[in-house]
Amino acid sequence: MCIFCKIINQEIPAYRVYEDEQVLAFLDIKPVNPGHTLVIPKKHYQNLEEIPEEELKYLITVVKKVAYLLKTKLGLAAYNLSVNNGRAAGQEVEHLHFHLIPRDAHDQHRSWLRTTYAPGAAEEIIKKLRS
Ligand code: AMP
Ligand code: ZN
Repeated sequence: MCIFCKIINQEIPAYRVYEDEQVLAFLDIKPVNPGHTLVIPKKHYQNLEEIPEEELKYLITVVKKVAYLLKTKLGLAAYNLSVNNGRAAGQEVEHLHFHLIPRDAHDQHRSWLRTTYAPGAAEEIIKKLRS
């Protein structure tokens, strides 16, 4: 059983932020910033591809609710919402989870490094995506 399923089953402890029949939100044990929260479906799905759309719709509704909770109760100015989907994207726990990461303007966390398209490269991508 995966580590998040163990948290759901209360086999290992976590600071629970929100819980209902389908979804659990709890504090990340190694927060990027204080209040960093993970929101997960109680059913084990490895990634975004696996979760059925109806369950995903409900999950994202709860993500919004929890984000509002963090924003209002912790007085957050801003937050990042992200999913590391797949190992190459940094997914370490193979149970789908949304990261809600509190941010402030001075926290020094860098966002993505940007690149530029070589001539024709964007057109190639678009051709593939539309084929
Ligand atoms: P990811 O790299 O997207 O798979 O993120 C997994 C996250 O789970 C990391 O941010 C970890 O700090 C967090 N994590 C791992 N184990 C626990 C745990 N027992 N309780 C709370 N958060 C955890
Ligand atoms: Zn699991």
